[in-house]
Amino acid sequence: TCRTRLDRYLSHELHIPRREVRLILAQGRVRVDGAVARSIHRVVDKFCRVEFDGALLSARAPRYIMLHKPKGVVSATQDTRHTTVIDLLPAHERHNLHIVGRLDFNTTGLVLLTNDGQWSQSLTHPDTKVPKLYHVTLARPVTDEYIEAFAAGMFFEFEGITTRSAGLTIINPYEAKVVLEEGRYHQIKRMFGRFNNKVVDLHREAIGALALPDDLLSGDSRALTAAEVEALS
Ligand code: URA
Repeated sequence: TCRTRLDRYLSHELHIPRREVRLILAQGRVRVDGAVARSIHRVVDKFCRVEFDGALLSARAPRYIMLHKPKGVVSATQDTRHTTVIDLLPAHERHNLHIVGRLDFNTTGLVLLTNDGQWSQSLTHPDTKVPKLYHVTLARPVTDEYIEAFAAGMFFEFEGITTRSAGLTIINPYEAKVVLEEGRYHQIKRMFGRFNNKVVDLHREAIGALALPDDLLSGDSRALTAAEVEALS
């Protein structure tokens, strides 16, 4: 099935129904091998270069996307009850992506998505030690004794692991920055939980050299630049 009709191919790649495909074809938004293609009967094969709104649609072309995750959104590709991070992307970008390091339902901030499995594996593998920077808002005052406990690591009985040394910087009694080189289940909430302190707000500001840009509003996404991809490789 290397050869397939253009409408079928686009419906599959863009995850949109065929009647919408007919519309975007009529609008002249699709090019095959550089020329505008308007016919649903056009046959394409895997050697064709199909573009939609100027973006190459070959599933093989690597894609890297950053998203400013709002509260109340699931870090999953599918969910029956809640909006997912994938749902927030433009329809034509949703296909084939996976999440590089999840955030909890009510955690906000930087999430990366890609179809490049090697890139995401190297970013999430604990041995590569990519630091993730979080801004934490707490229910009770944070004190200096937390700093040592975060740096020493904490034993998580359920997993039978000790957390890696984590950096804690106190901004004011109710706010702190935390740097993690790993991402255990609810890790930051559980670490503050050791002090019976509840995390009220949690926001991821950066992954390695990549900071969430100030102009990327909550719910918005954009492609990484080549330099940003390189900085994280
Ligand atoms: N730690 C948490 O507890 N939650 C997150 O979403 C990320 C880190």
